[in-house]
Amino acid sequence: MEHYFSKSFHEMSWNGPVIFMNWTMDGNTQLVEYITPNIQRILGYTSDDVISGHLKLLSVIFEEDRDKFQEIMNHRIASKSPFWESSFRIYTKNGDIRFFKSYTYIKQGSHPDTNLIFSYLFDLTEIRQEIDMHISLEHRWATAVDCAREGVWDWDIENNEVFFSKHWKGMLGFKEHELPNLLSEWRKRIHPQDVEKVDTVIEDHIHNESSFFESEHRLLHADGTYRWILDRGKAVERNDQGIAIRMIGTHVDITERKATEKMLQDRNQELERLVEQVKKLSITDPLTSLFNRRKMIEEINNVRQQFIVNEKPFTIAILDLDNFKKINDRYGHTFGDIALQTFANLLNRQIISPNLVARWGGEEFLLLFPLHNGQDTQRQLEALQEACSNDQLLRYRMDSVHLSFSAGIYEVENYQNLEDMIKCADQALYEAKSLGRKQIILYKEGLSVV
Ligand code: GH3
Ligand code: MG
Ligand code: MG
Repeated sequence: MEHYFSKSFHEMSWNGPVIFMNWTMDGNTQLVEYITPNIQRILGYTSDDVISGHLKLLSVIFEEDRDKFQEIMNHRIASKSPFWESSFRIYTKNGDIRFFKSYTYIKQGSHPDTNLIFSYLFDLTEIRQEIDMHISLEHRWATAVDCAREGVWDWDIENNEVFFSKHWKGMLGFKEHELPNLLSEWRKRIHPQDVEKVDTVIEDHIHNESSFFESEHRLLHADGTYRWILDRGKAVERNDQGIAIRMIGTHVDITERKATEKMLQDRNQELERLVEQVKKLSITDPLTSLFNRRKMIEEINNVRQQFIVNEKPFTIAILDLDNFKKINDRYGHTFGDIALQTFANLLNRQIISPNLVARWGGEEFLLLFPLHNGQDTQRQLEALQEACSNDQLLRYRMDSVHLSFSAGIYEVENYQNLEDMIKCADQALYEAKSLGRKQIILYKEGLSVV
């Protein structure tokens, strides 16, 4: 056992990281009696350099630490404390500086002025460098945070601690000391309508369901207004289950951008409304609000296209108000307009979808019955004529003004062009007028040409 112990100690004294030494202090004279040979590997000096007294112990201690070291040592010896520890830097043989921590045991020798001293010297240089590097990384991060124009936050989720940078607070109108670094300070400022959305994106990222998180939401400013914030963040540490335990992120004030977006959105809506209005106007007759001629031509062409597919007959009818000139002459043009509007309203009430009505021009109207044959249409128009003859329909002061129309109907049974179709309906209308007006005539071959 003892054999192994001394063998291991021997091994450690050559290759281990801890230097062991045993020395005496006699007044002010220091004499090293033993020092492990690993001193050569660690500091470059040989054991003999030290034991021979050729190398003075204090001379290798870094100047700034030397007085402190001696002071502590003298104090310990004087106060007879057996153990003490100390930290100091030592020059290596080639002039580098290394960091050491020493543990020392002092025992009084046979003579009161003589002290036997045993020391372990730990080389902490590498650990020190690691710590320094860590500190400098944190320092660099802190500097970056301070210089960034964006607001920065750093959230230790595990311990529920949060840090808001100066700009983060400034963005909400607070000085650095005016807003505590508490998560609640952020949460309570989120606009109530945005809370749920923000929670969802953050939760998703915490549970590793997104590669980063981004949210645009409103935060309450010190002045009582809400500011739009673009909040972007990413987990920098996750636990074994992949849950984020630390996240960092930035805040950018996008209030102006949002205002511009809103303005553009409003403009677009306004533009869309105008476009719709213009579209509607382009197909509407301004006096009667019925479809205009252009729209009716389009609709008839649609039905003609369907005819190619289903070959189902459809019908058109042209209506012309009878003796309308007389109404104008008698009651004036303005009343004539009212009469046209009244008739248009009646058409709207009586002729319902999918049938369509348009003002064809002047006091003429064109009606399209996509699913009717000629006789169906005739019945419809007779009902219309009936409604038209109602005394209450149109009145001028105490007088009831009588309105009637003549109509020519054309049932389309073959695919033909629009002009020919209109011409046939016109021929039937001409026939209706010839027969004394207030007639509804279904076109048939052999009608006189207009
Ligand atoms: P007919 O029975 O043969 O159709 O006789 P009519 O008087 O209705 O026909 P005519 O073609 O001689 O006259 C049509 C009249 O319709 C003349 C015109 O001033 C009137 N008119 C056309 N468009 C409008 C309009 O927008 N407003 C008013 N008030 N009158 C119009
Ligand atoms: Mg006419
Ligand atoms: Mg007329």
